[in-house]
Amino acid sequence: MRADRISTEVSARLFAEASGVIPGGVNSPVRAFASVGGTPRFITSADGYWLTDADGNRYVDLVCSWGPMILGHAHPAVIEAVQRVAADGLSFGAPTPSETELAAEIVARVGPVQRLRLVNSGTEATMSAIRLARGYTGRPKIIKFAGCYHGHSDALLADAGSGVATLGLPSSPGVTGAAAADTIVLPYNDIPAVEDVFGRFGDEIACVITEASPGNMGTVPPADGFNAALRRITASHGALLIVDEVMTGFRVSRSGWYGIDPVDADLFTFGKVMSGGLPAAAFGGRAEVMERLAPLGPVYQAGTLSGNPVAMAAGLATLRAADDAAYAALDTNADRLADLLGKALTEAGVAHQVARAGNMLSVFFTDQPVIDFASARASETWRFPAFFHGLLDAGIYPPPSAFETWFVSTALDDEAFERIAAALPGAARAAAEASRPA
Ligand code: PLP
Repeated sequence: MRADRISTEVSARLFAEASGVIPGGVNSPVRAFASVGGTPRFITSADGYWLTDADGNRYVDLVCSWGPMILGHAHPAVIEAVQRVAADGLSFGAPTPSETELAAEIVARVGPVQRLRLVNSGTEATMSAIRLARGYTGRPKIIKFAGCYHGHSDALLADAGSGVATLGLPSSPGVTGAAAADTIVLPYNDIPAVEDVFGRFGDEIACVITEASPGNMGTVPPADGFNAALRRITASHGALLIVDEVMTGFRVSRSGWYGIDPVDADLFTFGKVMSGGLPAAAFGGRAEVMERLAPLGPVYQAGTLSGNPVAMAAGLATLRAADDAAYAALDTNADRLADLLGKALTEAGVAHQVARAGNMLSVFFTDQPVIDFASARASETWRFPAFFHGLLDAGIYPPPSAFETWFVSTALDDEAFERIAAALPGAARAAAEASRPA
């Protein structure tokens, strides 16, 4: 295992203890640092842009819980709302007013969403949207794109991004041939490939699912007109378009990617920011499609904790606190971070590009265009562990994978950027000096 340059004794002990009771010591694979090495930091508290680990080390957080914490950690309005609502009881198994408030907030922001169903995770949201698309169209096949991650339901794990990409897994044992047989995986940003498949199986395809702007193979934005072309092709074949905004939703604008690239999909999925750091997610779309769900229609979907009042409170407080000034600050902070990353890597002489999609960004160690999963994987990802640890040792916490997006919060201030600027030259030199594995 890689030697850490700062004291990580307590995290190492906690990781060993965790590994005795939790597979791999973690409850989501990328947290284990498998692709970068070293000791996963056990976080004990967070405030603003700071993360504090069990050894007392502090880090400027550029992961933001993989996206949700746009306002930074322990934002007073969110914590106050959660504490107030929790005091009235945690879960009732019956409808509560705040579910309607959060659904109405989302319906008001994303034009094509007329009805919304709340669930507990992005995985559930996309899995349920796929079931609904199949139930609505009566067709079996779905199209997804290589490198897009839509959670870990069986049909959507094929050629996925995020942890599946980080660990280099082609797919997962346990997913039967039958579960994946109707999933057609195509290269991202490749409209001729989509047209070709629709030409051959058009009347069997229930839906195309795409990340609104992918962030799970690193940040790889859609080419101009890509989402609109998917809309056109699906509509002309009677298939549905599902735009997955679990990552982009309410992060890149108050209406998510839809606020930047307003393509009227049939169904949208949401998660992360909409629940402010607690477990809730949602899928929604045209009333005519959504009303095929039980109890109105025959497509079944349910959840014991769905619409949990504490998660609703965190989501509502986050969305309401994220005003225009907050989104402007997120954009400015992404610009500042991208600028610092680019300068340091240029000075160190490392071929790179800082990819952007709204305020999401990531670093690819290549000067070739990155437009899909194949080109993302062709970059010099072996430089990433050295770059990552150069930053981590200097008190900056980037995502522990070359295939993940970096997330900024509104909490980042001049002092945070000074720390990032001070850490980057050493990390960039380490990336330059990294050697390609034999
Ligand atoms: N869809 C996208 C675009 C995501 O980025 C993710 C998670 O990162 C998911 C779905 C799955 O969400 P969850 O991890 O909440 O199950």
